[in-house]
Amino acid sequence: MSLSDDILSNLTGFSKAMYSTWFYYRPGRVLFDSGEGVSTTMDNFSFGIESIFLSHGHYDHIGGLPGILHARNSGRGDKEKPLQIFYPSGDSLIGALRDYTDRVCFRLSYKLIWNEVEPGQEISMRVGGKGVYCRAFQTQHTRTALTLGYSIIERRTKLRDEFSTHSKDRIRDLVVEYGRDHVMQRYDHTLLAYGGDSLTLDLKEVEGAEVVVHDATFLTEKDRDEPTHATSEEAIRLARDANVQCLVLHHVSSRYSADRILNTVASQVESIAPDLKVMVALGRSIQPARKRNSRKFLEQSSRV
Ligand SMILES: [Zn+2]
Ligand SMILES: [Zn+2]
Repeated sequence: MSLSDDILSNLTGFSKAMYSTWFYYRPGRVLFDSGEGVSTTMDNFSFGIESIFLSHGHYDHIGGLPGILHARNSGRGDKEKPLQIFYPSGDSLIGALRDYTDRVCFRLSYKLIWNEVEPGQEISMRVGGKGVYCRAFQTQHTRTALTLGYSIIERRTKLRDEFSTHSKDRIRDLVVEYGRDHVMQRYDHTLLAYGGDSLTLDLKEVEGAEVVVHDATFLTEKDRDEPTHATSEEAIRLARDANVQCLVLHHVSSRYSADRILNTVASQVESIAPDLKVMVALGRSIQPARKRNSRKFLEQSSRV
């Protein structure tokens, strides 16, 4: 199994524009956003969450947070484990939710830590026993508040190019003589990037990523009335240009039927990036963008 497939198989969630969005990445025990329904869907797995990264304070991304906090306090899981919440610095809507949860979830059995985050901030965490970090990056969604995306990044080392033709023995000798840093170089590898709601993400933030979860509220530019969300075409182009292994489109508008979404995205992938693996989050399921020939779709597309 490729690394991107492995990451994808460990990603669950729900996404539908305007209603609710959240994604849980099990190896990192990390929840990205916490839209309505997250605690009832995750059930006892809610206790596994160690960090919650909030992209912004719109209801569809935070409406399920009190439920998570309450379930952890009252349920039978590991109630003593601390829970960290990270959110964009100065977000007044999340500030208001924090005040509300402080009132309704008092006397918590676990330590709840709220952290305001600035773009570029790095937070260390563990994924599958390995030390990784989460980096916050700025997104473009509302003009009135800071909005953030988050990348889980692995620090790796590789042989410096100038030693690529050297034998193993020679490299071992060089390490002994000059030290490891002389021979090896460090680099960052993005495992998973979550963009929340945003126009097209900054290419440098997702470059070379294994999996990118990107806003695709609209299928085409003509459906977009305000510059606050991306189109599926823009996300596919970005993933192609950034050499992303797998793109997950989310936050798709409910104005489109599932068939129309999958068929339109499949056509866009075919013409823009035929080799790119593209998945679409449709409610609870994350499925491949493959053409479906239902009568409903054909009727709808003939009307467009
Ligand atoms: Zn939003
Ligand atoms: Zn949203």
